[in-house]
Amino acid sequence: MNIFRSAIRIIAAAALAGAGGMAFAYKPLYEYIDNLPLQDNRLTWHVWVPGESDDGDAWDPLFHESVRHWNAELPYFNLGSVTRNSEDCTRRSSGSMTARNQVNTVTWRETNCGGGSMEHAAGWALTFVGGAAGARVIEEGDIFFNERFEHAEGGAEQMVFDETSFYAVALHEIGHNLGLGHGYIDAAVMAYGPTHKWRKRLSPDDICGVAVISGKREFCPVALGEAVASNGAATQAHFSGYASADAGATARETLRPWQEFNIYATVLIDPEHRYRPGQLHVVAETEDGQYFARNAEGEWHPYTGGEIPAATPPGDLEHAMELIILGRNGISRGQPTYDPRHGYNLYREALTGIRLDLEGVSLKFWLAYSSAAEPGLLIYGSEPIRVAWTLE
Ligand SMILES: [Zn+2]
Repeated sequence: MNIFRSAIRIIAAAALAGAGGMAFAYKPLYEYIDNLPLQDNRLTWHVWVPGESDDGDAWDPLFHESVRHWNAELPYFNLGSVTRNSEDCTRRSSGSMTARNQVNTVTWRETNCGGGSMEHAAGWALTFVGGAAGARVIEEGDIFFNERFEHAEGGAEQMVFDETSFYAVALHEIGHNLGLGHGYIDAAVMAYGPTHKWRKRLSPDDICGVAVISGKREFCPVALGEAVASNGAATQAHFSGYASADAGATARETLRPWQEFNIYATVLIDPEHRYRPGQLHVVAETEDGQYFARNAEGEWHPYTGGEIPAATPPGDLEHAMELIILGRNGISRGQPTYDPRHGYNLYREALTGIRLDLEGVSLKFWLAYSSAAEPGLLIYGSEPIRVAWTLE
């Protein structure tokens, strides 16, 4: 069953509410490249990061472990690392320096290879694309860690690597070498954020992003079926999304009513529709067949057929688009307060099933986009995001 082709009937208002924000999700590092695998589907880094943290954690095994963590999630790639001191920076015949020298290196640096400051970057990734025009591949990836972060030197802004932050930066920079840009989902490794957000696990969005960019879409763990165009034409779009109770770190189909949650969606836009006006659309379907459409302010109204409201403000579609369907991007902090009506401790501003009267409710969220380039056409995911708020 697909609501975008279904007859829609009039329904009563529901107590759905949401605050949404637009952002970019797993964003490809390079635009207009939709099938960008690694050369020979493999990448091996030469790692030379001697030393250890102030707590005695050696850096080198942390990098190797971060490679193993990525490799375990990408069965179509062979990622490896060896401890080897190789030249990370080579002088060209012109005299300038380049990191592009056919060897994938991981080293400490105070400046990047070109002499630029790394003062405000914990890590720095360089990813080089080559190959024939019709068959582009990532042929080299280099990573620099900021040497100034290795040990404290005092100063309020002096950041220091510990085991967690070094590992998280390694995961993040490896993601760049695999073709990912910066994402927005709070708990994603590719989120561009301050140090309190250090992540030690890949999120479903990170894993899906590499799968989609590499042309291995079947390995996206949160895909919303095949993308379909309402006119039956073939499309290169891709839809993914999931509900999460931990800011996107893991995906769930069931939530406890008192859990703070977010529902995320990511859309890879068909190349024909990128950088042209267009909007995302979201419709929630209840178990008894009622429909609600979300508007750009995050409000939900009964949907009775006809043109589906836009869930995003007017603007151009990017290469990849993200929508926070419900929730805020992140998890609330601070003291929970006791809710006498339900008998639970709730965070004051947290979006929970209880707050939305969704206890015992199951919903399907359908995702689509439209493009001004082809009025009347909808591109949509053939499967919904499924969420149930249950005590079971
Ligand atoms: Zn980055």
